[in-house]
This record gives sequence, structure tokens and C-alpha cells, in this order.
Amino acid sequence: MTRYYIAVTYDVCGHNNLYEEMSEYALDSSADMDKQIKEFAKIDFAPLIKVYHSVTSDFKELKLYKEYEFKEYECGCNQ
Ligand SMILES: [Zn+2]
Repeated sequence: MTRYYIAVTYDVCGHNNLYEEMSEYALDSSADMDKQIKEFAKIDFAPLIKVYHSVTSDFKELKLYKEYEFKEYECGCNQ
């Protein structure tokens, strides 16, 4: 069964109660996922990326597949 993946970047700031969806990216399932995720994080400066998968190409039923955290893009307001 083919699976379709999308990555959603989130802007997160615990200090300001911010938890905001930024962008959605389609993942190329034939390429290295971690590598693509790192690129998306870099583009959006995203401290959090969630990967969702769907068994259908219309993305009607999404399930959380994996979460990635990027400490280097976390906001600095807690320090
Ligand atoms: Zn912050």
C-alpha cells in the first residue's frame, strides 16, 4: 500500500502561548525523510515539524506519523 506523507511546520513559543501552523510540504517518499524535514525546518525556522501520513492521495484521513524538534530554531524568550 502506498503511503502519502505531508510535513507541517509549527511556530512554537511557550512564553507567548504560541502554537501556530506555518506551512505544509509534500514529502517525497522515495527520498530520505529526515533530510527533507531538515530542509523544511531551515526554510521556516521551525522548532517543530509534524509528519502526517495518509493511505489515500486525497489526504482526507491523516494520521500523525512522526514529530521532529529542532532546538536551534526555538525562540529565545525563555532565557
Ligand atoms: Zn518565545
